[in-house]
Amino acid sequence: MSKPLLRFAPSPNGRLHLGHALSALITWRAADLLGGTAHLRIEDIDTNRCKPEFTAAIFEDLHWLGLSWPEPVMHQSDRFEIYMDAANRLRAMDLLYPCFCSRTDIAAHASEPDPEGAPLYPGTCRHLSNAERIERLERGDPVQFRLDVEAALEMTRSLSFSVIGPTILDRPQIRYARPQRWGDVVLQRKDIPTSYHLSVVIDDAAQGVTHVTRGRDMEAATDIHVLLQMLLGLPTPYYHFHRLLLDDSGQKLSKSKGSQTLADLRAQGATAEQVRRQLGF
Ligand code: GLU
Repeated sequence: MSKPLLRFAPSPNGRLHLGHALSALITWRAADLLGGTAHLRIEDIDTNRCKPEFTAAIFEDLHWLGLSWPEPVMHQSDRFEIYMDAANRLRAMDLLYPCFCSRTDIAAHASEPDPEGAPLYPGTCRHLSNAERIERLERGDPVQFRLDVEAALEMTRSLSFSVIGPTILDRPQIRYARPQRWGDVVLQRKDIPTSYHLSVVIDDAAQGVTHVTRGRDMEAATDIHVLLQMLLGLPTPYYHFHRLLLDDSGQKLSKSKGSQTLADLRAQGATAEQVRRQLGF
């Protein structure tokens, strides 16, 4: 096998908090234990929410924690054309279709939730005629492109992948992906010609990532990634899902809930040593 290569892939849409520090420390320690390298990737496809000052702050916070990585750092915002090429390959396979639904339309027609509790897309626009699609595209209606998951599954063999855990040195366990529980996922958003799912699989392959370390909150989404890897002929890395840090109410720490950032802790006088110890490193 090629030399283990891992990555930490934060989005610069806010300052890093303790949950990110835990994920980063787990990744660097796993790279160490495996005799490999941890790389950094900046996941900044969302050009409205991601800001260069947050990218600079990611470098600062990770250096403060004592972590380093090979240069150059991959920035997803440099790679839109590569993602569009991949989407076009799926389009040529007849696996992408335009969807004109708003969030409200979807909520009104969904009969069940997806694994994250959001309304499951009921496949409304999969049934539009070609003439209707062309008319709406020509009219300039806001459009996103979705993967026809049923058609995609017909083209793939068994969707198995290997999960390593609870520690990174454990023996891999085979798991079967069930991407259908997400419905027809969006691969090209209304505002940008890609999506988190599409970019992440392209870049893990482009960087030669052998082991993906990510929080358990990303476990179900991995099913979509395994499907996309099969469709695009990309290798499937090993996956290691790690524990999450929860707040007092049992919720995952997050930027949107205003969890204390590493910068806040630093300003209050915490040392990197204390933060690492608090997280078990
Ligand atoms: N960029 C994603 C995030 O900040 C994580 C990337 C991944 O593990 O796929 O949540």
